[in-house]
Amino acid sequence: MNEIAIAEELYRSARAYADDHRAARLQKVRVEVGELQGANVERMLSAWHFVVQESVDQDAVLEVEIKLVHIHCPHCGPVMRMEPYVPRFCPKCHRAVHIEGGREMGVVHLSFEIEVAELAGDDGRH
Ligand SMILES: [Zn+2]
Repeated sequence: MNEIAIAEELYRSARAYADDHRAARLQKVRVEVGELQGANVERMLSAWHFVVQESVDQDAVLEVEIKLVHIHCPHCGPVMRMEPYVPRFCPKCHRAVHIEGGREMGVVHLSFEIEVAELAGDDGRH
């Protein structure tokens, strides 16, 4: 999945939440993306800019947290990451490792402006 598709998906869920809460404009959207999604933070930020441009949320700031996988060797326990890539085998005993996580993708925090005029206006009850 590329960054544009991830950004579109995250924006859709952020906007749906904002709509449910009668939010006007999104201000800040914090997301977490598992490293196995293959997204890079800088490309995520430009993808986000591309996705929200010309929408009411064009000034919304994206914060991205890349969630690293947990690597576990059945023999040695937790495996230390020495390189940016995910090892398939334990560096100590060379057994195949178990990998957990890394597929996360979601909005973890949102801030938005409420449409004050609408809240203060006529609520339709008489
Ligand atoms: Zn091992």
